[in-house]
Amino acid sequence: MTTIITEVQQAAVKALKRLINQPSVYDEATITATTPFGKGIDAALTEVLTIASENGFKTYKDPNGNYGYAEIGTGEQIFGIIGHVDVVATGDPDDWDHDPFHAKVINDHIYGRGAQDDKGPTMAAMFAVKSLMDQGYQFNKTIRFIFGTDEESLWRDMKVYNANEKPIDLGIAPDAEFPLIYAEKGLEQAYLVGPGQADLSIDLQGAFNAVPAKASYNGPKIAEVKQALDQQGFDYQDLGTDGLTVIGKSVHAMNAPQGTNVVLRLAMALDQVFPSQPLDFLGKHFKEDATGANILGNIEDQQSGHLTVNISSLKIDQNETRMQLDMRIPVTIDRDELIKKLANKIAPYDLHYEPYDYLAPLYVPTDSHLVKTLMTVYQDITGDQTPPQISGGATYARTMHHCVAYGAMLPGTPDFMHQVNENWALESMFKAMEIYAEAIKRLCVNDR
Ligand SMILES: [Zn+2]
Repeated sequence: MTTIITEVQQAAVKALKRLINQPSVYDEATITATTPFGKGIDAALTEVLTIASENGFKTYKDPNGNYGYAEIGTGEQIFGIIGHVDVVATGDPDDWDHDPFHAKVINDHIYGRGAQDDKGPTMAAMFAVKSLMDQGYQFNKTIRFIFGTDEESLWRDMKVYNANEKPIDLGIAPDAEFPLIYAEKGLEQAYLVGPGQADLSIDLQGAFNAVPAKASYNGPKIAEVKQALDQQGFDYQDLGTDGLTVIGKSVHAMNAPQGTNVVLRLAMALDQVFPSQPLDFLGKHFKEDATGANILGNIEDQQSGHLTVNISSLKIDQNETRMQLDMRIPVTIDRDELIKKLANKIAPYDLHYEPYDYLAPLYVPTDSHLVKTLMTVYQDITGDQTPPQISGGATYARTMHHCVAYGAMLPGTPDFMHQVNENWALESMFKAMEIYAEAIKRLCVNDR
């Protein structure tokens, strides 16, 4: 087993501090032709490439600033390691115990925005490779660290990468949890759009990727709407002259069947009071089943489970009815056919389908050499027998050929991604480095 010596561990922490200290939040105000996501992200990209170059990697930066990479080895095949240097905003910095962009190690935890997502894991993987380089290993593949810059927004960086560069042959994205994610459902976001309504206007907004848990109504026929909610046994807060708020349970859209969707509940009640074709679709047909089975039948596969459907907004005015839809499509289901089917089902309700965004699924078979090797390494080092996972979420692994999400969070590591006081225990970071070093040794070094 490869061990990571203290010097390399400390070098990784030092490098991570430098990277955290570059506030790399998307910034529209500083966008230029060569800083497509703002100057902060560009500075972080430059910094990570500088760190890589200081440690013996050959680096490249896209002249338009969309991405960069760092390479070692000369093999024909490319083993990709995909991370990202952009971070989400900090929220109110006063809520933090320390400056989120001035990294600090306290009680053997490194604090700062990006410590877990994804600067920490990226540095852990890079210094794992550095440790193999220091030990004199020769790589039979080109190991390429790819640094993304728009992961927390719209993934425009990887669109440019894939247009400019030839695909990797295999790889990992250290931007999730161990042991490994080999399947991520296809992610479809769209609008269902239909005619407006004269006697009703409502505007329930929500994020595509969350099941809405609060929906307020304060319009005409409020007594009838309350009655309809009572009839169905739906929870709501009676606000007197201020109307009412239906109460549900919010979960991530990928777990929509475990939530209670109040846009749907309110729509079911409204449908009883204000009959219309679009409301009929929600109230009488779609109803509350977030697997979409009421309209599409049972859609699932062995590899990745059920379809999930989350309808998270509803806007009705005189001109238009519009709702937003988030679907997580099982990996073996044909997207085009599914959408055709859905479009046919909604047409009788005067609704049409308006696509918004789509991310293709990730699927690498569990009996592939890549998954088997990565799983064995993880098990050898941790003793943990958790099987490889499927996910409704999305990592950069799906933007690359034959790539899986692998770490860097270990089971039991508190999840601070996107949260206040983001930090990562150094012990966990060093364990992840050990796993990465061994995995890359087994996948990219010839037996000697
Ligand atoms: Zn991330």
